[in-house]
Amino acid sequence: MGTQGSAARVLEREQAEFERRTPRSRERYERALKVLPGADTRAVTFHWPYPAVVERMHGVELIDIDGNRATDFLLNYTTMVVGHGHPRVVEAAQAAVARGTAVAAPVPGQLELAEELVRRVPSVERVRFVNSGTEATMLAVRVARAHTGRPIVVKAAGGYHGTYPDLDLNLREGVFPPGVPETTPVRLVPYNDLPALEALLAEVGDDVAAVILEPVLGSAGIVPGDRDYLLGAQRAARAAGALFVLDEVVTFRLGPAGAQGLLGLDPDLTAFGKTIGGGFPVGALGGKAAPMDQMAPGAARAFLHSGTFNGNPVTVAAGLATLELLDADAYAYLDRLGAALGKGLRDAIRETGARAQVTQVGSLANLHFTDEPPRDGDVPARIDPTAAAAFHLGLANRGVSVAPRGTFALSTAHVERDVERTVLAATEVLAALSG
Ligand code: PLP
Repeated sequence: MGTQGSAARVLEREQAEFERRTPRSRERYERALKVLPGADTRAVTFHWPYPAVVERMHGVELIDIDGNRATDFLLNYTTMVVGHGHPRVVEAAQAAVARGTAVAAPVPGQLELAEELVRRVPSVERVRFVNSGTEATMLAVRVARAHTGRPIVVKAAGGYHGTYPDLDLNLREGVFPPGVPETTPVRLVPYNDLPALEALLAEVGDDVAAVILEPVLGSAGIVPGDRDYLLGAQRAARAAGALFVLDEVVTFRLGPAGAQGLLGLDPDLTAFGKTIGGGFPVGALGGKAAPMDQMAPGAARAFLHSGTFNGNPVTVAAGLATLELLDADAYAYLDRLGAALGKGLRDAIRETGARAQVTQVGSLANLHFTDEPPRDGDVPARIDPTAAAAFHLGLANRGVSVAPRGTFALSTAHVERDVERTVLAATEVLAALSG
């Protein structure tokens, strides 16, 4: 087995190559530093030395402002499940734009997209649209607190539910600058550890409004939840009189009814986002009628929930067109490509002797520079950051775009050749890291 003592040298080399290939991106980075904090508008799009500015996207191809081409395995952090600019999605969005882009009234498409979610997901009887996954989880917390009259929310350490201060709690070092108080009672439990959750609920269960979990930890690096853990968490939450909330913002892409359909879960509330907006800003909360109908005007325990762009006509049209493309064949195809990518990356690790692990669920995969396959949300603290940065830039220099944390996502626009080329690129970088 090789060592990763050479990681710093590989990183230096890949960084120099990246800078050589991206002078115009660098120029814009320096200009942007003057007006955008950190030169960007979204933490996860930043990486050292600076990110390439992408000018065009089509299918799975990205073209940056220096003319470099890359195959997109990040897909706006798993969003673009049918690729960029699918003709059916573009047509639906263009037709919606031509009819008008925002109005304070119900518009065609909202009802149809809500009906499609209800048809696909047995636990969902009602849907509220919002503009992001963050808003969907914020709303889930409000609905659960209003429904139960209880304050506490339980989440998994390392679970990501958007940039909402409550649910950011203790996500990573530095999320809360010193002096910022923990605003509401959120309690943390380790992921994939049912006894820990049961113990917490035995202690404070009477005050718990909701247990919110991702079926697969996404931001922590595609860490699958055990089926028994998730089913047990659902049972324990219900037994405590709390709502079980599943965050499917990332995992809805895994099957027609998301991860809950694959695992036989029946959450009270589900947060949606990303794929259901066809590439436009989106979020939705779905759930059982009783908690959700609190938002109906005139309901006994009504509370106000609004949003200027909720259920935007362009978003719902593009979202519906996307879901229409995701039939049984599409999911089977995504699963097949995902399995091929997972196997290819595992083979690459074996061949090169790299100290790395692969996790993979359907069309999502992650390569981790850890000694053991991760099982909880503490991955970022355990990875070798130099090797991870070198791997990310090494792939970028070979025309493969992945998340800096090593996340890969597939779309129906990828073909087997894309996976093969990516595995070759990964093998090359892993070999250098192990040399
Ligand atoms: N929940 C999960 C599981 C996510 O991965 C994300 C975003 O990546 C969110 C919620 C927040 O969604 P958004 O970025 O649309 O606010």
